Amino acid sequence: MNVQNEQFRRTLTDIVSGNILFDEPTERHTSIGVGGRVDALVFPKSRDELRQAISFLGSVGIPFIPVGNWTNLIIKDGGYRGVIISLQCISHVARTDRNAQHVSVDAEAGAGLSDIVRLSAVESLTGMEFCAGIPGSVGGAVRMNAGAYGNEIKDVIETVSVMSTNGGIAEFKRTALKFEYRHLELPEGSIIVSASFLLSRGIKEKIQDRIREILEIRKEKHPLEHRSAGSVFKNQKGMPAGQIIDDLGLKGARIGGAKISEKHGNFIVNTGNAKAADILALMDMVKKKVWEERGIHLEPEVMIIGENG
Ligand SMILES: Cc1cc2nc3c(=O)[nH]c(=O)nc-3n(C[C@H](O)[C@H](O)[C@H](O)COP(=O)(O)OP(=O)(O)OC[C@H]3O[C@@H](n4cnc5c(N)ncnc54)[C@H](O)[C@@H]3O)c2cc1C
Repeated sequence: MNVQNEQFRRTLTDIVSGNILFDEPTERHTSIGVGGRVDALVFPKSRDELRQAISFLGSVGIPFIPVGNWTNLIIKDGGYRGVIISLQCISHVARTDRNAQHVSVDAEAGAGLSDIVRLSAVESLTGMEFCAGIPGSVGGAVRMNAGAYGNEIKDVIETVSVMSTNGGIAEFKRTALKFEYRHLELPEGSIIVSASFLLSRGIKEKIQDRIREILEIRKEKHPLEHRSAGSVFKNQKGMPAGQIIDDLGLKGARIGGAKISEKHGNFIVNTGNAKAADILALMDMVKKKVWEERGIHLEPEVMIIGENG
């Protein structure tokens, strides 16, 4: 069976009650605004629909990948042959008092990090302030071990629940998980379905001030007026990638519609009509230059998937 097959499409439609978009241009979804067509983009509405969808896809050998808010993704111009599963509709958030000091916030993968930051500000919970302004979902942030201003998601994680390719869900304590810089090691095909964050009771004004301060720094330093996928390269120990790129005078360099932001050397922005190929060519140019001039291998932080156009 293949994805164009009528029977395949009917079965997928029977399983998933949420939206299903066939042959969908992914440039409509990625934060950087590039990407070719995906065979099918599905929005399961529950864990059960998610389980049935991945069991079905596994049984017919169709590849799939999960996405959250699409803010760390570059999908190539040839698109993705297979199914993209959006966790957007699986997004319940609940809080549980743990003791006098601690509260846990249990969030499904599709919830926005911004929802958790907002909740913590309203409920005087401290720990998530560093996530202010990171536009990802809970699932994407855990998968990427998102971080900023000296903190990472792993610092506030208590447990992560993961659906494996057979549809079973296992809950892992943080200590059982292998978090690395901008990466959580997971078996191929695993989908994060929820995470719990252990936060402490704090002082509302202090929490809100810190969030406001971080949002202001971001507005000043990041090119938020343009479409991007956040930091393109991983930082080097002791030297942010943006600083290296800036020192080499590469800010403002462009290929096609892709440009290295003049505001921040580690952001590539879409000036309006960029193709994924422009962004990838600019990344290659930067990598080559940094290797030749500094002997440093820059590694992408953004996830790159799909086929060349
Ligand atoms: C303006 C801007 C600023 C940013 N600032 C920061 C920052 O300060 N720090 C930082 O770390 N990042 C930053 N980012 C990058 C991005 O927001 C984070 O990496 C975020 O955590 C990605 O979440 P997402 O839901 O958008 O993931 P997506 O882009 O949807 O997916 C990213 C990867 O995670 C996988 N994934 C998504 N959901 C799941 C799931 N449920 N289970 C398993 N795998 C999953 C995808 O398959 C993909 O490989 C920024 C991005 C932008 C555009």
